[in-house]
Amino acid sequence: MNTNVAEIFGEKVFDDRKMRERLPKDTYRELKKTIDQGLPLNRKIANAVAHAMKVWAIEEGATHFTHWFQPMTGITAEKHDSFITPDGDGTVIMGFKGSELIKGEPDASSFPNGGLRATFEARGYTAWDPTSNAFIKEGVLCIPTAFCSYTGHALDKKTPLLRSMEAIGKQTKRILRLFGLDDIDAVKTTVGSEQEYFLVDRDLYNQRKDLIFTGRTLFGAPAPKGQEMEDHYFGTIQSRVKSFMDELNVELWKLGVMAKTQHNEVAPAQFEIAPIFSTTNLATDQNQLTMELIQRIAKKHNLVALLHEKPFEGINGSGKHNNWSLSTNTGLNLLEPGDTPYENLQFLTFLAGIVKAVDEHQDLLRLSVATAGNDHRLGANEAPPAIISIFTGDELAEVIEAIKADADYGSKDKQFMNIGARVLPKLPVDTTDRNRTSPFAFTGNKFEFRMPGSAQSIAGINMILNTAIADSLMQIADVLEQAEDLPSALHKLLRDIFTNHSRIIFNGNGYSDEWVEEAERRGLLNLKTTPEAIPYLKRPENIALFERHHVLSEEEVLSRYEILMEEYVHLLNIEARTMIDMASQEILPAVSGYQKSLADTVLAKTQLGLPADQGYEGTMLARGNAELTSAFAALEQLKADRDTMDQLEPIEAAADYVREVILPDMEELRKHCDALETMTDQKSWPFPGYDRLLFGL
Ligand code: ADP
Ligand code: MG
Repeated sequence: MNTNVAEIFGEKVFDDRKMRERLPKDTYRELKKTIDQGLPLNRKIANAVAHAMKVWAIEEGATHFTHWFQPMTGITAEKHDSFITPDGDGTVIMGFKGSELIKGEPDASSFPNGGLRATFEARGYTAWDPTSNAFIKEGVLCIPTAFCSYTGHALDKKTPLLRSMEAIGKQTKRILRLFGLDDIDAVKTTVGSEQEYFLVDRDLYNQRKDLIFTGRTLFGAPAPKGQEMEDHYFGTIQSRVKSFMDELNVELWKLGVMAKTQHNEVAPAQFEIAPIFSTTNLATDQNQLTMELIQRIAKKHNLVALLHEKPFEGINGSGKHNNWSLSTNTGLNLLEPGDTPYENLQFLTFLAGIVKAVDEHQDLLRLSVATAGNDHRLGANEAPPAIISIFTGDELAEVIEAIKADADYGSKDKQFMNIGARVLPKLPVDTTDRNRTSPFAFTGNKFEFRMPGSAQSIAGINMILNTAIADSLMQIADVLEQAEDLPSALHKLLRDIFTNHSRIIFNGNGYSDEWVEEAERRGLLNLKTTPEAIPYLKRPENIALFERHHVLSEEEVLSRYEILMEEYVHLLNIEARTMIDMASQEILPAVSGYQKSLADTVLAKTQLGLPADQGYEGTMLARGNAELTSAFAALEQLKADRDTMDQLEPIEAAADYVREVILPDMEELRKHCDALETMTDQKSWPFPGYDRLLFGL
């Protein structure tokens, strides 16, 4: 295995360097212009690019191509076509036309569309997103594409994300112009997403239907050891895991993913991989690839990667920190406070925009991370609470307080620089000792959104973040562009924003009960579960927000609402069925069999004149039997309630029912089965328990 990173990096990507080398000079220039300005690709360029791409792909051993897209399921989809084209005389040539590069028509009618295509048009098409490079994966040339219906509705997660990047770029440029930066061609959002996951032994995994069908354990008594020793965090990486990680890194590097850090996480068998940040759409594509590769390469090492947010009860779950910033084509990070008062002021303007956006759109940010899996993490003292707030750190908090207090600035002193604090204190970009309990934390030159779940696509999350912030930047620009005296208008605006939206700033312990009470006093939303959060998506003001910035139309919002609700109900339905299956076919029969052996022993001993009904076997039999009876009752209850679920309409009723009836039923059944696990012979238990799963690597 060649592990010379510099040599292999981007080896499987048709990147800028390869385009420059392989395309005629003027074609390359035209293509670059098309990409930079977001123009449609003309046929002549497309043919030339397709040809060069094909020649390169065949050299690299590819035989097929696919339009690689991100349907609303949150995973990626591909349909492979071979390059083979008949040559008329019975032979074949390897062909790939410009039209095939630009547009594809996957027969994708079974992807969820939330009613979009049912009402409009049955077919959808995929279109190349030239801002994301083509790459080769498993012998297939993958062309990153957007997926739309023929009526122009976005059927995927990428299209709205690209639109949101455009929206925030546009508003940011307006603000930069006010600060005299009118040479900025493009502003893009940047993202670095830290991916957490668990690894379990594949043979053990294969013995558990819950892991196979739902990605998490639905049963399992705690192991004698959990994560209390914290000896796994940053500990030595086991050799089997190490060889998996080595291979993962190499494969990611070949695909141009800048995998940078890897380490053990807090929980046993939990790990993290983080890339170097990139523009959001690329970061999204690359995170999807990372999740796919983690799973594929784990299998080669006889491991299975669990991306689920909560694979094990009582053990920390997995998240995906979304580090977010704004950056110009000239390489300026706009969330870098800077050294001069002038730069400070520009930074504070963006900070104000973000504070305002996060406060005004708590509902959207909350629902962007609402999934059945993430419901187990948020607010469970291992991840941020379900309440949205911003951590600024004490230094920035003081600056904000000073700005708020400087009430009569305008009349006295119109000096531009005087913004409460004359110059921002140097903000430490600290990577160790930060407040880890905040859902949305300023970390020196970027914000870290810590609520996303490990299995989520980051497309929707960033689409919402970008749109919310674009909107508040728009409002700021609207005011400032009209101002006769910019410095005092800006000063007043900052003071107003920080005064009106300070409630969203919280620098204390987000895990504490006091914060939950305090947040309620402040009037902040606390949407604990997915079915409580998702309905906020279709509020009229949210539909208007997405329409205002041309990110989603009303139909597109409503379709996404449908899909999210359905996903929640379907997932819980599968979990409930899996529990019923495992309890009926595995756990209860196994326990019954074990109890028979106890009963036989009691009888045999009694026959021999050894009274056993009060001894070990008799006592365990009585206790176990009581527990088994309760487990059976809980199983019957879950079965009956789940049957009712199938008749529930509309989807809101089903979602509420799941949360209020099915989930408690599942908990009850689990409680009794986990108790049975502790009183049953380990050899009789039908599948491996937490001890082996978590400590068996
Ligand atoms: P921690 O584990 O302390 O949160 P890491 O170093 O693991 O920090 O992750 C930080 C992530 O933030 C990395 O993916 C990094 O590339 C990313 N990042 C750094 N600067 C920016 C930026 N300007 N925009 C977006 N992401 C960034
Ligand atoms: Mg982090």
